[in-house]
Amino acid sequence: MLYKGDFMKVSLYDVAKSAHQSVEFSRSIDINEPEVLKSIGVIAVENVFVTGKIEDFDSQFTLSMDCELDLTVVCSRCLNEYKLHKKLHIDDVITKDENSIDGIVAENGIVDLSMVVVDEIMISMSMKSLCSENCKGLCSGCGVDLNKEECICEDDDIDPRLKGLLDLL
Ligand SMILES: [Zn+2]
Ligand SMILES: [Zn+2]
Repeated sequence: MLYKGDFMKVSLYDVAKSAHQSVEFSRSIDINEPEVLKSIGVIAVENVFVTGKIEDFDSQFTLSMDCELDLTVVCSRCLNEYKLHKKLHIDDVITKDENSIDGIVAENGIVDLSMVVVDEIMISMSMKSLCSENCKGLCSGCGVDLNKEECICEDDDIDPRLKGLLDLL
């Protein structure tokens, strides 16, 4: 059965009383919680398309979902923004226990698909997001983007402004 409710939030009650105890969905959704994603450098989530189903096997609910989306990420080395297309696959049990650390928590029997996607993005990203493996980052002396410009700093670690002072001493 194709789900007819609010597509972002699927009620387990609707799943349980549907034909074959299963609802399917296939559509684009918005992501509501971009704030938590900023901690891993993700500043925008766009073009989110989810397709999948929630099933009820004797009151044990499961979610199976494919998701495609576009991320805008800030490189943790050079601070430039770059785009990332991601494909995520989610296969998990659903629990109504809000304290559970396993599975997808359905608060008050509601599965919030946008939160499921946010959690999966968090898991799929590494702690340090880099625009490329070879990103040279910013010069610690003058701050230029070393991917774009040659730097005029000398190779030693002394700040050029301090160097004149040290020469006097
Ligand atoms: Zn970079
Ligand atoms: Zn420099």
